Amino acid sequence: MLSNDDLHEFRQRLEQDLAALEGDAETRKAGTETVELDQTRTGRLSRMDALQGQAMAKATEARALRRMERIRAALRRIDEGTYGDCARCEEPIAVGRLQADPATLVCIACAERSEQR
Ligand SMILES: [Zn+2]
Repeated sequence: MLSNDDLHEFRQRLEQDLAALEGDAETRKAGTETVELDQTRTGRLSRMDALQGQAMAKATEARALRRMERIRAALRRIDEGTYGDCARCEEPIAVGRLQADPATLVCIACAERSEQR
């Protein structure tokens, strides 16, 4: 069972993470926009580098969006009073698991099950 202090700490960490991700949004977005050729270098290689950089920026952005979604869901669960219970099986999630990642929504058993699928 999570104490109010635990919940308070998790909420703070989640809000900080979310603020940091939101703060970086513009920077990440810039990287996903049209590939600009580096004028100091020429040829195919620099274009490939640029495309690769863009692909990486897109992957980073997708990861960030998924993480923000999880953080928002975790914050919603704190408000609803269901935070700390697995979103699938409703068993309590181990506190150590929440401490490692407060945005964790499912217990270890459910996480392992979904990875196997
Ligand atoms: Zn579960």
